[in-house]
Amino acid sequence: MARSVLVIGAGVAGLAAAWSARRRGASVAMISAGVGETALAGGAVDDLPWEQVERAARLLGGDLPARDLAPAARQLATELGLWDVPQAEAARLATVAGRIRPARGRDRALLDLGPLRRTRVLVPRAPRAAWDADALAEALTDEPFARARGLRFLPVDAPVLRFDDERRIADGDLAARHDDPARLHWLAERLRGAIEGAGGAGAILLGPWLGARAPRAEALSARLGVPVGEALIGAGSPAGLRFEAARDVLLDAIGVARRHGRVRAVSEARVGPGDAGERVAVHVEGEDVPLAADVVILAIGGLAGGGITYAPPERGAGTDLPARGAAPFALSLAAPVALGDGRGQLGVVSSMQGPELDVTTWPRGERPGALEAVGIRCAGVRAAPGILAAGAAIAGRARTVLDAVTTGLRAGDEA
Ligand SMILES: Cc1cc2nc3c(=O)[nH]c(=O)nc-3n(C[C@H](O)[C@H](O)[C@H](O)COP(=O)(O)OP(=O)(O)OC[C@H]3O[C@@H](n4cnc5c(N)ncnc54)[C@H](O)[C@@H]3O)c2cc1C
Repeated sequence: MARSVLVIGAGVAGLAAAWSARRRGASVAMISAGVGETALAGGAVDDLPWEQVERAARLLGGDLPARDLAPAARQLATELGLWDVPQAEAARLATVAGRIRPARGRDRALLDLGPLRRTRVLVPRAPRAAWDADALAEALTDEPFARARGLRFLPVDAPVLRFDDERRIADGDLAARHDDPARLHWLAERLRGAIEGAGGAGAILLGPWLGARAPRAEALSARLGVPVGEALIGAGSPAGLRFEAARDVLLDAIGVARRHGRVRAVSEARVGPGDAGERVAVHVEGEDVPLAADVVILAIGGLAGGGITYAPPERGAGTDLPARGAAPFALSLAAPVALGDGRGQLGVVSSMQGPELDVTTWPRGERPGALEAVGIRCAGVRAAPGILAAGAAIAGRARTVLDAVTTGLRAGDEA
């Protein structure tokens, strides 16, 4: 009988784990409580935190060569069909904060400035709260990358919003309107007019509005003959919706059943009479009968994704002192695993004044703050017998999409 694997978590690490376990012939199911970090992030696909990459490039006086993806990661990216991860050179993304930053890859809706040289990038004005084309164009033109490549960002008047409510609706809702081919055609015609009005352009930068079910930027670019794409936003981008749609299509295609549910505990247990071998029991909130699997993969995310929670001992103390000191973090479910921050087990960092935030929280030099690094202590991806971990749930790993893919693939392989 095929080995049964239960993946907890439906972010990018859970997807990679499910995909690789299926490739190894396991029978795989997935359960998740909903949105995690992957669905919040903006569509940049990094292997290392980009600030680190930029610092290293500055020190070395030139761009770092991009590391190619491992074959399995590239295969997964191809099957997912959502990302462009160039072979050799990093992508360059424009952020809505006016920075141009490197990224190993990108959601295909985002504009890659990397291939552009000595040209103008149009930035259409739109009366939306988080979109200031004039300020953005000025800031981006002033970026060292733009100056070195001769890129000029030009704010232009182009009616990219069609209906009055589009001044106010969420980015995701506006992006969803461009899933409609007729609406995309309408936008292409408006942008064509903008290019003609400006006397030509090398690219067009828009807000995060180009598709909710799939990236629509390439279809626009093909119609217009110049690259069109989104700027990167900090959190809550439609890139998360696009990830979820692509993930669900891929999971269906490879035969991974998924369901909604919050896991409250995972225990190493023999479940039910007659069950062969040691199996893991997974207790779901509101359900009496536990799920069972040969192996469980905890792909539950870190602090931002909800897999780890901030739980200082003072919280339950009421008007009294806490009964005892304890590390201020907990897993979102009970499991026989230990927490750490990549340097060892978490010590007690609380005091009567609360946790020592100056010690635990802030990044110092190359060291990420504990709030980011805290997670499950593993040997590789092994957390306990029958329990593996993947992605941002693991202590001390880079919190990036491609790092989550790497550990997810490994967990799926080892399951
Ligand atoms: C705002 C933001 C911006 C980011 N920007 C970038 C970026 O520019 N580039 C980059 O490379 N990375 C970025 N990241 C980091 C990157 O998104 C994460 O490192 C990566 O997505 C982690 O994936 P994951 O699958 O490990 O976790 P998540 O995507 O967090 O998935 C965790 C899953 O576990 C589920 N879960 C948790 N607890 C339970 C439970 N008890 N029961 C059932 N299910 C549970 C959640 O519902 C969710 O489905 C960003 C993250 C955030 C939050």
